[in-house]
Amino acid sequence: MALLQLKDIGKIYVSEGNVAVGIRGVNLSFKLGEFVAITGKSGSGKSTLLNVISGMDTYEEGELYIEGQSTSHYLQPEWEEYRERYISFIFQDYNIIESFTVLQNVELALMHIEDKKQRRERALALIDRVGLTSHLKQKGSKLSGGQKQRTVIARALAKDSPIILADEPTGNLDSQTSKEIIALLKEVSKEKLVIVVTHNFDDFKECATRHVRIFDGAIESDHIVSSPQYIADSMQSNGATVQENATAPKKSARFIREVKNGFTLGKSIFFAKPKLSVFLCLLLIVGALGVFFITSSCALGLNALIGQNNMFNYLEGRVVATNDDGTPLTDEEVAQIAQKYGAESYIRFDSILDASLGVQWKNHEGYFSSIYASVDFINNYSNQGVVGKMPQEPNEVLLYFPISYKPEFGEQEPLIEQIELWSIGNGAIYKVTGVKYYVDNNLEPKIIFTDEGLELASLMRASNRSYLDIYVKQDGEVVWSYENAMAAPCFDVEEGKIYINAYSYHDFMQANSDLNLQTEISIYGFDYLDSSYITLNEPTKWPEDYGSNNYFVYISPYLYKEIAKQSTTEYRQFSLFFANDSEASAAAEKMMEEGYIAVLSNATYKTDGIDTILNTILGIFALVYWAGAIIFLALFINLCTQRSIEAFKNDMAIMRAMGITVTAIKTGMYARMLIAIIPSYIAVILTAIAIFFNPVANAIFTFLYAWQYALMFVGLLILVTFITHRQIKKLFNTSVKKSLKGGGVA
Ligand code: ADP
Ligand code: MG
Repeated sequence: MALLQLKDIGKIYVSEGNVAVGIRGVNLSFKLGEFVAITGKSGSGKSTLLNVISGMDTYEEGELYIEGQSTSHYLQPEWEEYRERYISFIFQDYNIIESFTVLQNVELALMHIEDKKQRRERALALIDRVGLTSHLKQKGSKLSGGQKQRTVIARALAKDSPIILADEPTGNLDSQTSKEIIALLKEVSKEKLVIVVTHNFDDFKECATRHVRIFDGAIESDHIVSSPQYIADSMQSNGATVQENATAPKKSARFIREVKNGFTLGKSIFFAKPKLSVFLCLLLIVGALGVFFITSSCALGLNALIGQNNMFNYLEGRVVATNDDGTPLTDEEVAQIAQKYGAESYIRFDSILDASLGVQWKNHEGYFSSIYASVDFINNYSNQGVVGKMPQEPNEVLLYFPISYKPEFGEQEPLIEQIELWSIGNGAIYKVTGVKYYVDNNLEPKIIFTDEGLELASLMRASNRSYLDIYVKQDGEVVWSYENAMAAPCFDVEEGKIYINAYSYHDFMQANSDLNLQTEISIYGFDYLDSSYITLNEPTKWPEDYGSNNYFVYISPYLYKEIAKQSTTEYRQFSLFFANDSEASAAAEKMMEEGYIAVLSNATYKTDGIDTILNTILGIFALVYWAGAIIFLALFINLCTQRSIEAFKNDMAIMRAMGITVTAIKTGMYARMLIAIIPSYIAVILTAIAIFFNPVANAIFTFLYAWQYALMFVGLLILVTFITHRQIKKLFNTSVKKSLKGGGVA
């Protein structure tokens, strides 16, 4: 049985209304061991015949049999399999992959050998056979024409296909090199079927076993020149290869093998064009960092869209309550309620928990800086990572601040000694004992008091009494007065004394130069203070070292507390604290049944129309901005992947002509993209870490959560895969012959 048989084969080209006969009525039959030379004038159909035999071009008439099997019903995948199994093609213009080394080019054709070591061994043997051992690691682009053609022959042998087709293989070579290549082909033909197209039969006179002449697409003559001598492939028979040509592997196994080969291929492709790969990586890094920064800067705006309107500051186990009819409760009543419902603790004047406290401090340059903060319970904070100490006294606080404040507040010990809290009694002065930093920009800064300090602060915060009238009396007569004095608590002020600022003090001293500092003064306006006497203290360190306002009167916090108590009798709301939210919710339910209004601190409310509209508009802006930026980046990535894939267009066509399956090549392209995306992931991670450790950067970018990074990475992967997919699809829509340079028509 003939290995290959053509029966009445005809091929017609129709292009732009013109019909050209490629070949017609061709009847030929070939067997192993033959060395066939095909000659004919230019345009007579030699290349067409070869292309049809190779399965790179279709035929319209007749039938082509391979090992007795007809092929006219073949579709693209079958032709692919056919090429992989039977055909090796040698072109006039070589068509090796220029960016691959000799070794890589040959190994590419050896992908059917799964064992890497075996693959390498066989490649080395084949390269040795074509005499290129000394050029093993040389890139295709650096080889001479003869060396390229040797590589192609080694590659053709590597494929182990029974048919080698060569279209003018020596057309571009000098005569000496031509002779060497022809000798090589002759040697090879002993174990294969070699069909060579040439316009110079003389070159092949000595080695051809058969001479076919073509004229105007038809066979003009067909002579046997010498009898072919078939010898089984020495390499094949000595067991160096494990190819299973006879039995086609199962579809799934085949697919897995191809995908595996694809990954190997992807690695080769990636490193074959290092400059292009570096460029691609850089562009992807830019793209990924772009996505990262844009997402980071949009995070807050986007959250506004999904954010909720909380009535209170949420704290685990907190229940916010009032009497149903709105009447204020006394301290004792609140304590009783707390006990009755099993609360672990309570805060009577709970507005401090929902407040944004203005925090102000004087920095090293002498300027005042400020931030808004909320409060939290000290038992939610361990001393781990605290710079300095935990607060002990009511006038001491721990700051829980964003890490961007580290340079200002200290790394080894607290650098700022005191802060002023605006919304506590007109600006109370507190001592900073320690600072703890966090990196999550979604959190709020917090001021942490001791338990006693929180209770005191909550009372001072709730008080609406902020102006005092001060009268200095001598022998029952008012000798000096200071009305509507803004009073603030100050822990430095001893009980029984008040501090007034320097201006007022001098004013007072001038008016009363005969008085000494022990003069008794009284603060009016409060029943219990009516008869009390308070010493005016000399402003030794004040006002410069205290708060920002210098028209204050500072009084002791304990005095302030007494004043506050009288001004907070109308305060209605209180908070109870339970072990956890489920206990809290059970207690709240019970309280609702029993004449109280009680809700969990995570209760939300519906915003009024304007608020909702504003938030939505803001959110939509952020979303549009974000989506726009992502689309822009996608187009950008699209552009650069397109360029980088186009650069492989010709190589891919060569691979296809070699019989490497589309699956393997596609996988290779994907794998290459996967490799290229790795540096961009590393760049994002490194940037995130750098931002994490750089306080200033950390203040600018909202730090994302790990799952958000993961999501971003997956998104980027999908984006790049999708883009690659589209571009590969475009490339594979053209036929092998068309995408090969020179179109295989010599
Ligand atoms: P040869 O290789 O012997 O020079 P070809 O096989 O390339 O000849 O061409 C045979 C005929 O088919 C010529 O008339 C040529 O113009 C035509 N032909 C070949 N390829 C195409 C094509 N892709 N489209 C249209 N006509 C073609
Ligand atoms: Mg030709």
